[in-house]
Amino acid sequence: MLENKNTQRTTLAELGEFGLINHLTKHFTIQNSSTFKGVGDDAAVLKSTKKQTLITTDLLIEGVHFDLSYMPLKHLGYKAVMVNLSDVYAMNGKAEQITVSVAVSNRFSLEALEELYAGIQLACNTYKIDLIGGDTTSSTKGMLLSITAIGTAKKSDVVYRNTAKPTDLIVVSGDLGAAYLGLQVLEREKQVFQVNPKNQPDLDNYTYLIERQLKPEARKDVVEILAELDVKPTAMIDVSDGLSSEIMHICSQSNVGCKIYEDKIPLDPQVISTCEEFNMDSTMVALSGGEDYELLFTVAISDFDKIKANPNFTIIGHITEKNQGINLVTRADQEIELKAQGWNALKE
Ligand code: ADP
Ligand code: MG
Repeated sequence: MLENKNTQRTTLAELGEFGLINHLTKHFTIQNSSTFKGVGDDAAVLKSTKKQTLITTDLLIEGVHFDLSYMPLKHLGYKAVMVNLSDVYAMNGKAEQITVSVAVSNRFSLEALEELYAGIQLACNTYKIDLIGGDTTSSTKGMLLSITAIGTAKKSDVVYRNTAKPTDLIVVSGDLGAAYLGLQVLEREKQVFQVNPKNQPDLDNYTYLIERQLKPEARKDVVEILAELDVKPTAMIDVSDGLSSEIMHICSQSNVGCKIYEDKIPLDPQVISTCEEFNMDSTMVALSGGEDYELLFTVAISDFDKIKANPNFTIIGHITEKNQGINLVTRADQEIELKAQGWNALKE
């Protein structure tokens, strides 16, 4: 995980707004030729290309989308970038720039914002992204963080949600459910800590789950692998709200149905063992948990041979005609209809 070494505390007022922006952004370097002018003027300037431009935004609010009592600021910065890059990759695009807007109350020090920006910078360097601007302002309570990502793709490469066809295979990258369980582990430890602050949490059995919750990686590699395999998905979406709600988005927008096979859903061994310990159903966790940031896509059946042996991918089902409905085939070979349930359904 990411280290946090900052213990000093400088108030934001000491720097002033422009000093602050300069301080936070001066170590970022430009890495894409499409960035003509980054931070520093009234607006950033991008070179126009023959490609199409992809734009996506997320707004994160303290207490609603993140809890700083177990989310270190460096991780928050990193994850906030990932959430946005994931949406660009889900269009089969290449992410190139971000803007970052942040509002903070006077509870936050310069060092706190440095931590946040260290996470943002690590994400930018790892994923070759240029920070090209943003806005900085104060809030009366807590932190708000909004990131916009900009990417490009050839018109013929862009993959939408509404173009899946009956007989297409349904494929997911990586594994599902771990990030949600990581959150459960962190919430449990927070409660234990509140009762007895001397209690040191033992998180050894949950390292993968916590890493998936606190330091997710957007699947840029999947877009690259698909290009190498010469496979263009027929539809694609990223798994931010759980498999169930994402497959429903593809099916309803594409006007099709689907069959997902319970025994095919990819689960990490830590997900299985922790579900047993927490007395939760691992299929439910994969279907309704969230924040896995894997890619869920459909491919023509003629691409089966290119996909089948790839260790990054699992074929979990296939698309059907709409009138067949959206179904999960259980291990007992029963078909049950999937209901719209994002990760909020599990929270209750
Ligand atoms: P303006 O008053 O025109 O909005 P600002 O003073 O807010 O200008 O911003 C000056 C420059 O710094 C702009 O290039 C802007 O995009 C950038 N900037 C402002 N806040 C941030 C931030 N939090 N992160 C990155 N860049 C920022
Ligand atoms: Mg501004």
